[in-house]
Amino acid sequence: MTGALGGEAALTSAARGTAPSFLVGLIGAGVGPSLTPPMHEREAAASGRPLIYRTIDITELDLPPESVAELVPAARRLGYNGLNITHPCKQLVLPVLDGLTPDAEAIGAVNTVVFAGGSAIGHNTDWSGFARSLERGLPHAPRDRVVLLGAGGAGAAVAHALLVSGVRELVVADLDPERAAELADRVARRFPGARCAAADAAAPDRLLAGADGLVHATPVGMAHHPGVPVPPDLLRPPLWVADVVYRPLRTELLRSAREQGCATLDGGGMAVFQAADAFELFTGLAPDRDRMLAHFHELLAAE
Ligand code: NAD
Repeated sequence: MTGALGGEAALTSAARGTAPSFLVGLIGAGVGPSLTPPMHEREAAASGRPLIYRTIDITELDLPPESVAELVPAARRLGYNGLNITHPCKQLVLPVLDGLTPDAEAIGAVNTVVFAGGSAIGHNTDWSGFARSLERGLPHAPRDRVVLLGAGGAGAAVAHALLVSGVRELVVADLDPERAAELADRVARRFPGARCAAADAAAPDRLLAGADGLVHATPVGMAHHPGVPVPPDLLRPPLWVADVVYRPLRTELLRSAREQGCATLDGGGMAVFQAADAFELFTGLAPDRDRMLAHFHELLAAE
């Protein structure tokens, strides 16, 4: 069905002598203010191709998170090229997909679904977005021992990225110790050459002792959840500090770390590069990541 619709759209475009257009969307709760739609639309426009990006906000539609299982096949029948999937649907979407990339399967969560050739394939660009951001922002940061604070959805993608990026020892901590232990076990099985363990988030001095880097992946520091997740006096060079929170970009954690002289990385790179990687999967076009980053900063400044 999808293939037929996609084929018809392409034929119509060909008959009109125009390049095919793209239709994509984002399913999640409270996604209205997401910056992903304008990032995709502007990047497509800059590439000379029409792309429409719709938000499908389950909160506004008064739908439960499980409704993603109906929304994804419906979008496919309606001729969407693909979908981004966000909180709280990244795992609930798994059963309705025809296949997963090995990375998405390893992480156990999908943020990008591509409809092509009659099937729906789940990808995870959160991990590749973070890996790319780390590579660009802190290319020479030592990675022998890295602490990951937060073992939720973002934490799972970041853990995968850190191990792929060559971290030799990953320590995972979370307010929920079971979550931390589960994530540490999962990555330990996937990356047998690295050491992965859970540690107590309530003992941050022991947690950070001897660490090269700290990656923060909890909601602490978001505009509606202000605060610092670890005591600022524990942030001392040569420790580097990365945050995945990007609203605001300058979190209290990063401000404290910079004041102490630590190298830092904000959450903007992950947000932009996950979108750029998804854009490439949806359209087959090569995004200009610097242009997308500049646009993202413009959008944030306008908020
Ligand atoms: P989540 O709810 O899935 O997980 C958050 C985890 O943090 C939970 O396991 C919770 O127990 C833990 N936690 C909360 N407070 C803590 C504390 N003080 N100390 C230790 N652990 C604590 O949420 P998520 O989807 O993983 O999102 C986390 C953050 O990442 C949010 O701010 C979100 O906006 C951000 N995020 C950013 C990007 C990006 O592209 N930059 C992508 C995804 C998520």
